[in-house]
Parts: sequence; C-alpha cells; structure tokens
Amino acid sequence: MVAARLSGAGDTFGGYRTRLVEQLRAQGIRDLAVLRAFAETPRHLFVPGAIRHRAYEDTALPIGGGQTISRPLTQARYLVALRFTGQERVLEVGTGSGYQTALLAAVAAQVFTVERVRELAEAAQQLLRQLPLSNVSMLLGDGTLGWSAYAPYDAIVVAAGGPTVPPPLIGQMADGGRLLMPIGPAQAQVLTLVERTPGGVRHTSLGDASFVPLLGEHGVDA
Ligand code: SAH
Repeated sequence: MVAARLSGAGDTFGGYRTRLVEQLRAQGIRDLAVLRAFAETPRHLFVPGAIRHRAYEDTALPIGGGQTISRPLTQARYLVALRFTGQERVLEVGTGSGYQTALLAAVAAQVFTVERVRELAEAAQQLLRQLPLSNVSMLLGDGTLGWSAYAPYDAIVVAAGGPTVPPPLIGQMADGGRLLMPIGPAQAQVLTLVERTPGGVRHTSLGDASFVPLLGEHGVDA
C-alpha cells in the first residue's frame, strides 16, 4: 500500500490525507475502493512545492503550464461513475500531474495514459516511478487519437473538455466499455458518461463541469 510504504519515508501528510478522505465520504463518496485510493495516494507529491501545504484541500490547484490538478471530489465522482471492479484496462487522456493516473492505478488493473505536454509527461513519469505501482504505461502524444496499440479499453477517462467525443476514442472502447468526458464549449461543459452497448452508444449527463480544453486533432481548435 502506498500510504504504508510512504509513512516510513518522511510522509508527514497522513493526517491531512485522512481528513480529505473523510471530507469525500461526507460529500457522498461511499465506494470503498475509491476512498482507499485517495487514502493511499500522496497528492502532495503531485503539486508544485510552493503550494504543497494546500495539497489536501478539496480544490483544484495549478500544476504549471496553465494546467490544473482537478478537485479531489470531482476526481472521486469520476472514479465512482466508472464503476471499477479492479479488472479494467483504462485509457486516460491528459495525464497532467499524474495524480489521477495513480488513483486509477489503485482501482483498475492496468492504466494507459497519454499527455501532449512533454514537461508534464516527464514530471508525471518521474513521480509515478517513485510509487509502488507496476501497472501504468505512459505515452507522449495526442490523446484524441487514443492509444490504439493497447485497445480496446474497458474505461476511458478524458481529463479535458471538448465539443464532442473524439471518434478514435469511441473506436477504442470495449463492448460494455464506459467513457467519461466533459463535453461542450469551454464555459458550459457537461460531464458525460458514454457507454458502448450492443445496441449502440448511450450518453448520460452527470452534471456541469469545468475542465481545461482538450487540444489536438479531434479536440478544441487551438
Ligand atoms: N487529471 C489530471 C489533470 C488533467 S488537466 C491530474 O490529476 O493532474 C488536463 C490535461 O490534459 C493537461 O495536462 C493537458 O495538457 C492535457 N491534454 C489536453 N489535451 C490533450 C490531448 N489532446 N492529448 C493528451 N493530453 C491532453
């Protein structure tokens, strides 16, 4: 377990992390695997040093390059909505800091993550290597194209918003697969669950969202 492994190595944030987990529970997150992922994942390692003391606040925080690490409650809702059993192969579009990648690695079997900004991808890779995780693979590139080499995916998490789901991502979903993405224009995104069933593709709205733009070939015009 990450928490156990880090506690002996100068992890003085355990109490804050426990409080964050309690806040998530108080706000309706009941999925034990999801709560455990937050309890085990050291968010303070994924935020810039200058704001490390704020790492366990339930807020989005800047991670450099105009990007943000999402609010924990939002990330928790993402994980709950995808109904992980621990068996899934997951594609994440937008590694960012790598924090959500680590959460996904705790609740799914294998995580494939794609980031287009080299500095973010390299920083995330370095951090993820320090954690006792062996189920994360990372690609530097345009995530709107997916990662065809390892498709199909049982779950796809798009951590940035755009007008429509990039068609390659639909193509890389397994039958019965689930995809989450904030869909819509910048100021009016709707977090949308897309499920691929034998009868077609079904969209369910899960509420308003506010994410950075999904750039790239099938994303927002840069
Ligand atoms: N969940 C992340 C935050 C993601 S912010 C965390 O926990 O830190 C959204 C990320 O998506 C940014 O890092 C941005 O660079 C990335 N992104 C935007 N468009 C992308 C694309 N087409 N392919 C891959 N990554 C993209």
